Amino acid sequence: MNIRQVLGLPEVLEAKRVVCVQPHPDDNEVGAGGTIKTLTSKGCEVAYITVTDGRAGAGAGGTAVVADELVTTRRAERMHAGAILGVGVQEELGFPDGGDYTIEDVTARLVALFRRLKPEIVMTVDPWMPYEAHPDHIKTGLAVARALQFCNNAILFPPGDQPPCEIPQVAFYGTSYPNTWVEVTPYWETKMSSLLAHKSQFDNEEWPLLSMYFGYAAQELWRQYRKDPEATGYAEAFKVLATRQLHFFPTALYD
Ligand SMILES: [Zn+2]
Repeated sequence: MNIRQVLGLPEVLEAKRVVCVQPHPDDNEVGAGGTIKTLTSKGCEVAYITVTDGRAGAGAGGTAVVADELVTTRRAERMHAGAILGVGVQEELGFPDGGDYTIEDVTARLVALFRRLKPEIVMTVDPWMPYEAHPDHIKTGLAVARALQFCNNAILFPPGDQPPCEIPQVAFYGTSYPNTWVEVTPYWETKMSSLLAHKSQFDNEEWPLLSMYFGYAAQELWRQYRKDPEATGYAEAFKVLATRQLHFFPTALYD
């Protein structure tokens, strides 16, 4: 039994309003850039919510001054990348990259935004990816899952200017447990362009190898999906769940 079919939930590519929540300014492009471009090309309204400011993205070259500049740089890069993919609205929560904030802090902000944006599907990182160690990714994924559960709960989250609402499903990208594949072959180069819009992160000597890896991984996902080792094309993969599978639903791992 596929509970999403029983509930009559739309396929990912049939959604008309999608919100993509990313921990850092480039995660949506890495995990779902080709799918986002496919959606906007079909007339879907896609909005971004970016949880942190990306200030820690300078690695070993980081100083306090560099971090402050990076926040501005990465905001511009994020807007540019989103424009390449046809993303309309971009919201930012401004939590410090890698910093001391809680899942509850993020959840409350997301509930308010979800009630305003009313997406049919929310896309985000998979906090249950077994070896995920980055706190921003874990906190963001868990905050999205909680916000989806409680978006329709006026006791836990009293309505402000927007009434409670039901958001029926979630698609985790970059997952180890995919159950949904989207062909992104027509937009592969567009996805790569959107990644390179994040110059501070990708326009460096690692890019030739990294872009090759992205391409190889996406081709492997396509071959897995088609169950054909000779198939040529690119795919992105998601764990798509109905929101009600996010609570007391032991079979969700296998759906
Ligand atoms: Zn990230």
